[in-house]
Amino acid sequence: MTITHTLGFPRVGARRELKFAQEAYWKGESSQETLLQLARELRQRHWQQQAQAGIDLVPVNDFSLYDHVLDTSLLLGVIPERFGIADGYVGLDDYFRMARGRAPSGEPVAAQEMTKWFDTNYHYLVPELAPDQTFSIRSSKLFDEVDEAQGLGLRAKPVLVGPLTFLWLSKFRGSQDAHDHADCCGAANGCGAAQLQDLAQDEGKLQLLPALLPVYNQILAKLAAQGVEWVQIDEPILSLELPQSWLDAFTRSYAGLEKSGVKVLLATYFGELQSNLAVVAKLPFDGLHIDAVRGAAEVDVVFQAVPADRVISVGIVEGRNIWRNDLRASLTLLARLQARYPQQIWIGSSCSLLHVPVDLAQEQSLDEDITSWLAFAVQKVGEIAVLRLGLDKGAEAIDAVLSAADAARHSRKTSALIHRADVKARLAASSEADASRHQPYDVRARAQAKRLQLPVLPTTTIGSFPQTQAIRKARLAFRKGELSEADYNAAMKAEIAGCVAAQEDYGLDMLVHGEAERNDMVEYFAEFLDGYAFTSYGWVQSYGSRCVKPPVIFGDIRRRVPMTVAWSTYAQSLTDKPMKGMLTGPVTMLKWAFVRDDQPLSETCLQIAYALRDEVVDLEKAGIAAIQIDEPAIKECLPLRKAEWSSCLQWAVRAFRISASGVQDDTQIHTHMCYSEFNDIIDSIAALDADVITIETSRSAMELLDAFVDFRYPNEIGPGVYDIHSPNVPSVEQMVVLMHKAAEQIPVQRLWINPDCGLKTRGWPEVEASLRNMVTAARQLRTEL
Ligand code: GLN
Ligand code: ZN
Repeated sequence: MTITHTLGFPRVGARRELKFAQEAYWKGESSQETLLQLARELRQRHWQQQAQAGIDLVPVNDFSLYDHVLDTSLLLGVIPERFGIADGYVGLDDYFRMARGRAPSGEPVAAQEMTKWFDTNYHYLVPELAPDQTFSIRSSKLFDEVDEAQGLGLRAKPVLVGPLTFLWLSKFRGSQDAHDHADCCGAANGCGAAQLQDLAQDEGKLQLLPALLPVYNQILAKLAAQGVEWVQIDEPILSLELPQSWLDAFTRSYAGLEKSGVKVLLATYFGELQSNLAVVAKLPFDGLHIDAVRGAAEVDVVFQAVPADRVISVGIVEGRNIWRNDLRASLTLLARLQARYPQQIWIGSSCSLLHVPVDLAQEQSLDEDITSWLAFAVQKVGEIAVLRLGLDKGAEAIDAVLSAADAARHSRKTSALIHRADVKARLAASSEADASRHQPYDVRARAQAKRLQLPVLPTTTIGSFPQTQAIRKARLAFRKGELSEADYNAAMKAEIAGCVAAQEDYGLDMLVHGEAERNDMVEYFAEFLDGYAFTSYGWVQSYGSRCVKPPVIFGDIRRRVPMTVAWSTYAQSLTDKPMKGMLTGPVTMLKWAFVRDDQPLSETCLQIAYALRDEVVDLEKAGIAAIQIDEPAIKECLPLRKAEWSSCLQWAVRAFRISASGVQDDTQIHTHMCYSEFNDIIDSIAALDADVITIETSRSAMELLDAFVDFRYPNEIGPGVYDIHSPNVPSVEQMVVLMHKAAEQIPVQRLWINPDCGLKTRGWPEVEASLRNMVTAARQLRTEL
């Protein structure tokens, strides 16, 4: 019989039970035993759900109390000295100190850095290697969980991060910092792809391999002694462009793991293997897992390259998105592979199911048709099992299920919920003119200067002001129906009025309304757009206890009604200073959602762009003279392989330009980006042709500005002068120094003064003190520069 498995299952629980248990423990409201008991229950529940659905090999050690890469650091003994952790197994509080800097017991300490797990929205804790790093087993979690699963009578398939992926994702202590916890955004974001490349630059990491491999061997031997048959070793870096030295290291490493007494399933995912396949096919694994969704085009090539006596696990059920599988097509593919090639086939998820929500059955308020197009983790497990049945017993055996899947597909192809002729017509008519402002920047800049009458070095902020308890409470009451719409709107207006008055009092030059009315920078807009749907429980882990609930883009997108015009015009009516309109850009609206898979991303992005364009034009009509289109996620659209970046950047830039270009010359378009280095895409950023860009630069002491300087970035820039992630109030001097640095490289006429990012996570007292200092710094700088 064909074997079924998953590469991993979501950990948080269908109702985010893990999150609430973690947070209660951290707050001292519950005991360690309570947390561990809940964790045990979740693991067992998830294993049982999979086993009962027909999964043969259940993943073990995919569960984590915070992060599986941090778990791996403990397993391998990669524990930086600053945590002061005594020898032996690491305790739970020390584990949390490494993850988040503090725990109910133990000294507070700087946590490990966090960054994006490949191109997902999951964030892992970056292992820190010392040049003289030694390795030893410092955690029994893996072995305990194997015992636990076996105790339930299950076939446990432990999951490990592989040695080379572990090293690749690590950094040498003291080397340049990876990006930090990204608390200001609805979803934490980092700059994924590019950063992975940077981290890989430390070729020296490979020198640690001889010390690391024996520990992997010990681990495998222990697992063999526990009676484990198969171990899944994850090496997702095999989907990246790897230097030859790393490919050679694969050959060396896997030769060493051969005689361990367990069978090794080498798991690759998130993309094609491409030229790495030549090396991979020769490795001495017992089985190879491939991502047959993102690597669909390569499946035959892999079967042709891998020796006949191996297992190939075909990851046919997508772990990255929430669409129901095209079971008939999958079964046809599997049957063809089985008939044509000698290798034994397994059926699995494309990657871990960590990246999808738990159970669609909980969704009660989602449209019925839309629901019929979706599959979450529990449903995907069912799909894997049914495909096996079809493969082993023939399509007739699963006829009813195939027909149901066909019907869902057919309904997606034809549904009036999805397909809107006006949207398609508008896209078909999209022209170059739509994507260009009327005049070049210098002409626009003169018109804008005349209209806006700003001083040199104008001061502004990035958009949000503190989301206070009062704001959250009002929103919750409104959602629960305890507060009427009129009362809610009145409450938000009062917040906006307070925010505008405060900014006038501080002396800022270009004001914002403060975003009080927004729960989240994507969801707020998505609610006004056709084509987006919202789940009730579609949570996905972002990091630690933080989950995001991305909206679902299922259909053609258009704006139903103006989204921000009333708020912005109200805010403008309260002041003579220019009020900046505030929108989320097309790429960010796309990347922080689950996206439809029935048309190219570029098309979906352009649809969003046109919807935003309508808003931009309406804001202009309402008298708003400056409009900011945020694109913090611009780098998240980049594929894992650099060779594929340019086509993606092309449509991303076009989408932004379409959203921004419906206005007259004297309307000023701003954009904002954060958490990224822009060196490798600076030409695309310039191509956005925003009149003003604000970026995060303060934590790098303006180093992030270098890319703009080297490129001779032609338009205006607001390099962030203070870090909004910290409650510390920046001093006037500090900001003056930073701006002097910026002014050495960029003409003052093109510089703005602003914080790094939005202020929504801060409290009013810090915000007031910081912004007053910022305005003082600006006034001083105007006399000095
Ligand atoms: N305008 C948004 C804010 O200020 C921008 C957020 C972001 O960059 N992530 O909150
Ligand atoms: Zn930002």
